[in-house]
Amino acid sequence: LQQLWVPLGFLGWQYRELKQSLIDMQNLFDVLARPARVRDVPSAARLAVSGGEVVFENVSFSYGATEPLVPTAEAEAATAAGNGAAKSGNGDVTSRGAMDKDARTAPVVHKVSFRVPAGKTLAIVGSSGSGKSTTLRLLYRLYDLTGGRILIDGQDISKVTQASLREAIGIVSQDTVLFNESLYYNIAYGRPGASPAEVEAAARAAQVHDTIMAMPDGYDTLVGERGAKLSGGERQRVAIARCILKRAAILTLDEASAALDTATEQKVTAALTALGTDRTCLIVAHRLSTVVDADEILVMRNGEVVERGTHADLLVRVPTSEYKLMWARQLAEKTKGAPSTPAEGDE
Ligand code: ATP
Repeated sequence: LQQLWVPLGFLGWQYRELKQSLIDMQNLFDVLARPARVRDVPSAARLAVSGGEVVFENVSFSYGATEPLVPTAEAEAATAAGNGAAKSGNGDVTSRGAMDKDARTAPVVHKVSFRVPAGKTLAIVGSSGSGKSTTLRLLYRLYDLTGGRILIDGQDISKVTQASLREAIGIVSQDTVLFNESLYYNIAYGRPGASPAEVEAAARAAQVHDTIMAMPDGYDTLVGERGAKLSGGERQRVAIARCILKRAAILTLDEASAALDTATEQKVTAALTALGTDRTCLIVAHRLSTVVDADEILVMRNGEVVERGTHADLLVRVPTSEYKLMWARQLAEKTKGAPSTPAEGDE
C-alpha cells in the first residue's frame, strides 16, 4: 500500500494543477466573452502603423465619467490577446467601487499634451496617484476620454478598431498576467504560431533563458497561479520576453516600483534595452537608470504635467525643479543602501 503513496500523491498534484489551469483559462475566456464597454465606432478602420508616433492633444479623463474600473492586469490580458474586451472584477475594483462620487469624477488626467516621435522614449514620473498609469491606460483605450485626442501615426485612436489598436501596443506592467502554465506557454502567448527557436530567442534577449535552463524542468516549468512560483524580477523578464515576441511598434511599460537587487536590476535593464530598440516607448519610470536615457521626461502632479524636458534639462536648466528634488532623494536612499522610488519619496 505504501508504494501507492507516491503515484497517488503525484496524481493529486496533477489534478490540482490541471484544475488551476482550467480556472485560469476560464478567467481568460470570461475576459474575452464580456462585451466591450468602450465600443468601436461604426465602420471603424484598422489602425495603420507606419512608425509608431504617439501624440496626446489636451487629453483629459476622470474615472467617474466612464464605468469600467479595469485593473491593469486584467486589461492587459485582453490586450495581450489582441481583443477589444476588457474584464473587470477583483478586490481592487471593489475598493474603488466604494469611492464616493466626487472622488471619482475629479479629473485624474487634465489637459495633458505631448508628442513621442516614432522610436523615441518618453518617461513619466511623479508622486503616487498623480495619474501616470492612467495616462498609459488611455493610450490603449481602456476608457474613452473626457477631452482631447490621442493620435497614433496621425490616426485618432477612438476611430480605429480596438483589436488593431491593441495589436500595435505591447504592455509590460507591474502585474503582468502570467497563466498557470509552462514558461514556454507564457512567452509564446505573445505571438501565436511563434516557433520554438523564436520563443528561445525572445527569452535570450529578455535575459531569462539562462534562468529558465537552470530550472529542473526548463521551459516546461509551471509558473504557478499568476506566476507565483517566480521571483518579481523573473516575472518581469518573462513579460518582457512575451512582449519582444509580440513585435509591437509601441511599448508601454509601467515599471515595477519594488526594489530589485543589483544583479536582477542589471538583467531587467538589459532586457528593457533589447525591448526598447526601434520601438516607441512610454514608460512610467521609477528607476534613475530608466529615466536618464529618455528622450523626454514628464513630471506629473495631480493629473497635470508640471515639468518636462530631458534629464539634463530638468537637473540643470530648472534649478528648483520637482524632478531635481525627486532624484536627490532617490540618490540619497540608494547611498544609504535602501533603494526607493521617486514616487515613494514624494509621498
Ligand atoms: P502610482 O505611482 O501609485 O502607481 P499613478 O501616478 O500611476 O500612481 P494612477 O494609478 O494613474 O496614479 O491613479 C491616479 C488616480 O486615479 C488615483 O487617485 C487613483 O486612486 C485613481 N484611480 C486609479 N485607477 C482607478 C480605477 N480603476 N478606478 C477609479 N479610480 C482609479
